[in-house]
Amino acid sequence: MRIEYRGFCRNCGLEFPVGLGGYFYIEVDRELLLRRLQDIEYMLGRLREYYMGIKDLISEFKVIVSKLHDSSIKSLIERLDDVAIKLEERMLDISIFYMDVQYYFRYIDEEGLNNLRIRCPPGEEANYIRSYLGHLDIEEVIKRVGFNSFCICLECLHQFEADLRDEESNPFRHWIKGPPAKDSRICPVCGSKSVKTISEIIGHTCPKCKSSKITTEFIGCIE
Ligand SMILES: [Zn+2]
Ligand SMILES: [Zn+2]
Repeated sequence: MRIEYRGFCRNCGLEFPVGLGGYFYIEVDRELLLRRLQDIEYMLGRLREYYMGIKDLISEFKVIVSKLHDSSIKSLIERLDDVAIKLEERMLDISIFYMDVQYYFRYIDEEGLNNLRIRCPPGEEANYIRSYLGHLDIEEVIKRVGFNSFCICLECLHQFEADLRDEESNPFRHWIKGPPAKDSRICPVCGSKSVKTISEIIGHTCPKCKSSKITTEFIGCIE
């Protein structure tokens, strides 16, 4: 079980974002998007096959109806039954396929396509990884999945997110494989190296008012 919390200072009101001290993310880049576009092309090909199958069956249906005026009605009715069964089968194919496509697009929204590191809501990590990567290939998971920690610059108080991988206090650090660090401990605003993550400053002196300690508020549990 994991606990979501919000870190803050009771004295001066300095606060950090709600989360696990950060969040798991998936790195999306051009290579991944191009591969996923190929998946869409394949899906569209299958949809066209289903469409053509239904079109042929409707043509056959029309031919049979035009012959209904003939004497051999019984055999024509049998053929109509056969066409109806095939149409039902094709419709079922389409409804199953439609659900697949819905699942595929569920998380690939506007924000996702424009954001290099996609934030996975706590508890939804596995679903997000499957949706974005299209599979659970371990090599690709190691390459693309990381943990962005909520960070603060102790010099200028700028807050930002970074995948540092050296936080002893971060309980999720051991979940992440791959390179020892993705980002460096440098403030993107003032260039200072005095950077701490939220999990490192809980219980320590507030970097803003320097009189109170950073404390946490319990938000919820995630299985
Ligand atoms: Zn700074
Ligand atoms: Zn404070």
